[in-house]
Amino acid sequence: MMTPVTITRSSPRRSTDDDLAGVAELLELAPAADIVRWAVGRYGRDLVMTASFQDCVLIDVVAGVAPGTEVVFLDTGYHFDETHAYLAKVRDRYDLNLRVVGPELPPDDRWRTDPDGCCKARKVEPLRRALAGKAAWLSGLRRADNPLRAGVSVLGYDEVCGAVKVNPLAGWSDDDVAAYVAEHDLPVHPLRAQGYTSIGCWPCTRPTLPGEDPREGRWSGSAKTECGLHL
Ligand code: SF4
Repeated sequence: MMTPVTITRSSPRRSTDDDLAGVAELLELAPAADIVRWAVGRYGRDLVMTASFQDCVLIDVVAGVAPGTEVVFLDTGYHFDETHAYLAKVRDRYDLNLRVVGPELPPDDRWRTDPDGCCKARKVEPLRRALAGKAAWLSGLRRADNPLRAGVSVLGYDEVCGAVKVNPLAGWSDDDVAAYVAEHDLPVHPLRAQGYTSIGCWPCTRPTLPGEDPREGRWSGSAKTECGLHL
């Protein structure tokens, strides 16, 4: 049985690791909706959600608890047309309070020679801008995404962005996600049917083969595995 989480309402403020230690343990065992409820209760308008629009599971959970929560999409300028179409579909379904944040530079081909620098300019810097003045952000990060994310916790502090990071789906398996999508009849990203198991920018994403790790299609053929948002 899940441990109930006490929802406390307090003035939004920045938190230190010490502040979070007590509640973090409880949240690890809580259902995703309770985790979102706690975050909304604690941080109010100082809370923002980021979404990559590969699926809309967390969006559905957040919409059920706190419709109107600001949802940030980082538009690198290199997303698939199918991702933009999916975003529009999800935005309309949930009447999202959507904020699209992009890089402050024109398209270039940096991804060919310096993917780390490209991700930094097109993802990490825009995220920092999006989170400026915010106390906390909700992310769909899961431990099951890949082995490097096996240590992801529900609650932590992101030193890079200077905000509390809440991952309500941290403990969800791929089967949990699939079951939720089916049970709630959620729209599915159109590239899923073409073998894309993890979907990012088109220059750095390919479909995966049966038996490959789901994120094998990202920066395929290089040692890069993360864009820098979730280090
Ligand atoms: S995923 Fe590729 S195209 Fe997108 S920001 Fe990173 S390097 Fe650039």
